[in-house]
Amino acid sequence: MKSMNFKKSISLFLGVIFMGMLFPICYANNSTEALKPTFTTQREQHYGVHYLMGHFNPKKMPGFVKIPRKYASRSGMYLREEALDAFIKMRAAARKEGVYLKIRSATRNFSHQKEIWEKKWLGKRQLSDGTNVARDIANPKQKALKILQYSSMPGTSRHHWGTDIDLNSFNNKWFEKGKGLALFQWMNANAAKYGFYRPYTVKNATRPYGYNEEKWHWSYAPLSAPMTQDAQRTLRDHHINGFLGSETAAQIGVVQHYILGVNESCR
Ligand SMILES: [Zn+2]
Repeated sequence: MKSMNFKKSISLFLGVIFMGMLFPICYANNSTEALKPTFTTQREQHYGVHYLMGHFNPKKMPGFVKIPRKYASRSGMYLREEALDAFIKMRAAARKEGVYLKIRSATRNFSHQKEIWEKKWLGKRQLSDGTNVARDIANPKQKALKILQYSSMPGTSRHHWGTDIDLNSFNNKWFEKGKGLALFQWMNANAAKYGFYRPYTVKNATRPYGYNEEKWHWSYAPLSAPMTQDAQRTLRDHHINGFLGSETAAQIGVVQHYILGVNESCR
């Protein structure tokens, strides 16, 4: 008798847990106006450290496709297929309203990002504010923080994932008037219908860390939000290495402050 009660309470307990797990899924599916996208319910795959850090060649990576030239400012760029399909639909809808979306940058793998980073680290390339970090800054951590204002550290870019795109212009000001403003407003009103969200919104109390605001950068969150969650689960600062200045990754806390320092719609 005693053991029956015990069994009953165990199944009741498990039942409650099970219902509790179901509730958010049902809620997400029935809710017409979810406050936050619920991409976590559709996990088919988990992404490992190697992938998340962009250690692969997108040209040879299953699931990646070449972006047709007409959608981009140059040929030879790649995206994950689902992200490109969503972009094509979004672009067509925008065109009908006189807004012309063009991809300026898409997938950049680790070695591509390492090239950009090391040129800046060695002072072979100046930052856009004229700083030559090799000449002007002695302290390695300060050097890295300065470069991080403009470029991501290899291994920490969402562009590694094949889910993120830069649109039309790399200048925030362009999006503040005329055609640029019209495009920005259209995207803010419509991009979410196609799965695109901005990870690098303005820095404030809700996004205190990370890369500066980028009005051109959009992320295909049905894929990239789960990737962000995988990064949170598996990626650690000590993984971020293999380039000049990588010893600063742990001092800065790049995983916490940069990879996870994104708008909540993208994680
Ligand atoms: Zn970008």
